[in-house]
Amino acid sequence: MHHPKRPFRINIGLLINQPIGYSRDFPFEVGDFFISPDLILHELTGTAVLGRTQPGLQVNADFQASIMVNCVRCLEDLKLPLHAVFEEIFTFETHPLSENEQIISGDGYINLEPFVSDYLLLQIPIKPLCKHNCKGLCSICGQNLNQATCEHHKEPVEGSLI
Ligand SMILES: [Zn+2]
Ligand SMILES: [Zn+2]
Repeated sequence: MHHPKRPFRINIGLLINQPIGYSRDFPFEVGDFFISPDLILHELTGTAVLGRTQPGLQVNADFQASIMVNCVRCLEDLKLPLHAVFEEIFTFETHPLSENEQIISGDGYINLEPFVSDYLLLQIPIKPLCKHNCKGLCSICGQNLNQATCEHHKEPVEGSLI
């Protein structure tokens, strides 16, 4: 499978010569995407619609991926689906910008990578759970209480240990 090094770098040379209102879809089938060696988005796919506007380009993007995290209670591996929808404005202006605007650099490319990775990573809950009623680990012996009880938990455990 082909894994381009910078899959989110889009050549906008042809787009910027189009009339205002023109738009084009850019589909992405990236697969595994390494944000860093130990931070990997899996099954990364999505679509960015780039529309020509007066000051530049408007990007409407819809991306999904999955990521492996650990349940905060039982510490088991957990595959989380992520879905992010976002909008960004890219402008040819050089004067002060609103915080949602990005300046288009002179090289004829825009790079959606920081937006795709930031928006998807924002979807990860602060306390991911393998299931809403995860029983967690015994604080004394470390037994995963979803799998078995231990001598410290003779009765079925209710609710969270955290
Ligand atoms: Zn769990
Ligand atoms: Zn125990």
